[in-house]
Amino acid sequence: MSNCAIVGINWGDEGKGRMVDLISSDYDVVVRYQGGGNAGHTVINEFGKFALHLLPSGIFREGVVSVIGNGVAVDPESLLSEIRYVRDKGVSLTPDKLKISSRASLLLPWHKELDCLEEQRLADKKFGSTKQGIAPFYSDKYQKKTVLAGELFDEKAFFEHLQGIMEWKNLTIEKVYGAAPTTMEQLREWYDTCCVPLMPFIGDLDDFYDTCKQQDKKIMFEAQLGSLRDIDYGIHPYTTSSSTIAAYAPIGAGAPYLKLDEIIGVVKAYSTCVGEGPFTVEWFGEEADKLREHGGEYGAKTGRPRRVGSFDAVATRYGVKVQGATAIALTKLDVLSYMDKIPVCVKYKVGDRTTDRFPFPSLLAQSEPVTEYLPGWGCDISPIRRFEDLPQEAQDYVLFIEKQIGCYIKYVSVGPERDSIIIR
Ligand code: GDP
Repeated sequence: MSNCAIVGINWGDEGKGRMVDLISSDYDVVVRYQGGGNAGHTVINEFGKFALHLLPSGIFREGVVSVIGNGVAVDPESLLSEIRYVRDKGVSLTPDKLKISSRASLLLPWHKELDCLEEQRLADKKFGSTKQGIAPFYSDKYQKKTVLAGELFDEKAFFEHLQGIMEWKNLTIEKVYGAAPTTMEQLREWYDTCCVPLMPFIGDLDDFYDTCKQQDKKIMFEAQLGSLRDIDYGIHPYTTSSSTIAAYAPIGAGAPYLKLDEIIGVVKAYSTCVGEGPFTVEWFGEEADKLREHGGEYGAKTGRPRRVGSFDAVATRYGVKVQGATAIALTKLDVLSYMDKIPVCVKYKVGDRTTDRFPFPSLLAQSEPVTEYLPGWGCDISPIRRFEDLPQEAQDYVLFIEKQIGCYIKYVSVGPERDSIIIR
């Protein structure tokens, strides 16, 4: 069996969905192993343009099984509407093609509400949550105050368990936030309309993975967000609430005994970041607007303008290391074609010292970029499919980044479409 993880190296939005869609043709199974509906993986293929939130980006491939692992925050309402949306575009989605782990915890109706209430309470100190309920979900999961997808099959026991959690949760909703409590009637309606239609997809993944092993199937693990948003290794507290790191993939997928043979780190040719928190290479004003427009840098989930800046070799080096990346996919090189000279941040100045190591999170606020400039290529590179056909300046830019981050750049993406790719 040969396994590969596709992970984000930076702040997320690196183009992971596009890379999974491309590479999944070589794999039998694509698994989402962490995160939830706050993801926004954009995929463009023969069915159209999709922003996937919970569904693995392999669902468009015939013969590929898509799996939602136990590490994912399964929001029945969002997942169901996503399944309907994809089916409406002509993609067949049967229980043979999509499997949801019975060990996955369900994101409950109050999680999104609590996310909104807390962001309101924080006001100008907010973290920039996507308000998909992810932080309340994961904190409840680790308090063991969620229900597992597999519990849906025993309706009576499910509601008994859920009622206990609801009564506990209503204390916070009413007494901390002064909001209206959730009722059992609301939960029954949620169960009937959002959970029951998902039940055919839910099951134990153990036999499935055993069969994969016996039949020597190839499994791909698809991550959400990037290294710098990881709960343990990211820019605390501006992280997500789950592990975005490749090492977690087999655990969140439901097969903790599997080894990863390849880890492809997805890196954007410049930097973008959504939400609050330190972003050392950030640009402002006209320069930023121009890059944002050229790159179409608006959130796939929220439509929020993304913060933009030059390529950050310091953060990327760190991201490559914590992911254990064995190869890199560099995306959006075509976006830089308009620039005369291209800035790259090679080191940080932190206080009075210069470093090429990514600093401790609380030092990031006082970090400044040390920038080198490379010549631009000034022409459209999106039709190019061979590395040696790229203008010399574009080749040099890729090779410079490769040297800076210390990892082989195997894929260079020059457009959002499936085939806009250079494989070295
Ligand atoms: P993900 O969350 O990591 O999958 O990334 P997103 O989907 O949020 O953001 C990537 C965006 O860049 C999407 O709109 C993609 O269609 C687009 N994209 C990906 N690769 C390329 C590329 O090489 N060139 C251009 N111009 N767009 C790309």
